[in-house]
Amino acid sequence: MSKKAILIICDGMGDRPVKEYDYKTPLETANTPNLNKLAEEGLVGLMDPISPGIRPGSDVAHLAILGYNPYECYAGRGSLEAAGAGIQLKPGDIAFRANFATVNEDLTIVDRRAGRIKTGIKELAEAINQIKIESVNGVSVEFYPTIEHRGVLIFRGEKLSKNVSDTDPHEIGVKPLKSKPLDDSIEAERMAKALNEFTEKSFHVLKNHQINLNRVKIGEKPANIILARGAGSYFKLKTFQEKYGIKTAAIAAVALVKGVCRIAGMEIIDVKGATGGLNTNFNGKADEAAKAIKHYDFVFLHVKATDVAGHDGNFKAKVEAIENIDKMIGRLIDQLDLNETYVTITADHCTPINFKDHSGDPVPILIHGPETFHSEIKKFCEKTASQGNLCRIKGIDIMAILTNYMGISEKFGY
Ligand code: ZN
Ligand code: ZN
Repeated sequence: MSKKAILIICDGMGDRPVKEYDYKTPLETANTPNLNKLAEEGLVGLMDPISPGIRPGSDVAHLAILGYNPYECYAGRGSLEAAGAGIQLKPGDIAFRANFATVNEDLTIVDRRAGRIKTGIKELAEAINQIKIESVNGVSVEFYPTIEHRGVLIFRGEKLSKNVSDTDPHEIGVKPLKSKPLDDSIEAERMAKALNEFTEKSFHVLKNHQINLNRVKIGEKPANIILARGAGSYFKLKTFQEKYGIKTAAIAAVALVKGVCRIAGMEIIDVKGATGGLNTNFNGKADEAAKAIKHYDFVFLHVKATDVAGHDGNFKAKVEAIENIDKMIGRLIDQLDLNETYVTITADHCTPINFKDHSGDPVPILIHGPETFHSEIKKFCEKTASQGNLCRIKGIDIMAILTNYMGISEKFGY
């Protein structure tokens, strides 16, 4: 009989030894009785999300961990963001991550997030969606606001390419960049032209919009331009159902991760109070995962808090996030039949607190479930993982290992 599996990704959990904390990592420092128990009774090792030394974005790391070779299928971040927002792309569409920003009269960027605008977004989006692209034929544009200042920008029409540069300069005090084609194709040239026209028009449409005039009146920053980044094109993946014949669900708050899961054919389960931040609803995630595994063969659970703390360079916050994750896992396994269910816990990459970005170091991984050898490792962390019984694997190996244990993998050869 086939077994079930839960895969838990603690985003950016891996770290490096931190001098100021006695050369310990946040995971090593954290009190993690539940992780330790699962590690001791299960397989423990190191995992290179892509391969040794490669610094992955969360998008490509998740693709690899879910069994898709990102070198073959990755088509840019924008399309994953769109999928995460529930927008169906069509072949030929180009999607960008976009945000409302604040510029002054000479277009110098004052705030890349428009004061984290929360109200009036719908009205502003309606105005943006009146914009017609005239500099290139047969191209239309749609803007979908998501959360606060964020949104997704989609260009539809023929002969467009994702090989163009961003208009978002990722800093303030400068003007929006002109998008440039990144190759010699007519498609890239058309795309860059359309995006530049859109950016200019977004300023004209937004600068005197009533919502913005009101914002200025009460001392808030106007949301008067749209900046775009991370072009992506439509792509398709073989779903989990098609690959393994199993029913899958995902619990994730971050649009990008939701997007990967949705394209992989997973049902997205929303958890009340799941924010993608440090204060997310850990208990709610545990309970929803426990509930979901009754109806699905495979449940994917993502927690962002560890990555947030890593980018902030905040050791204590990362330790706290890990301890909250440990409690979440305790609450989850109390509700599981561990003779029927594999529990895998790992990270999608390291976000070392002194580096404040994703590094190319391996991350610790544990796989707990029936018929695995016991690692006898008493404390789950980066250091001990190098001595574990799973040794060192790559992200792309995980689904093969899990489907093998679950009893649903195909034999290779006769
Ligand atoms: Zn990540
Ligand atoms: Zn990150």
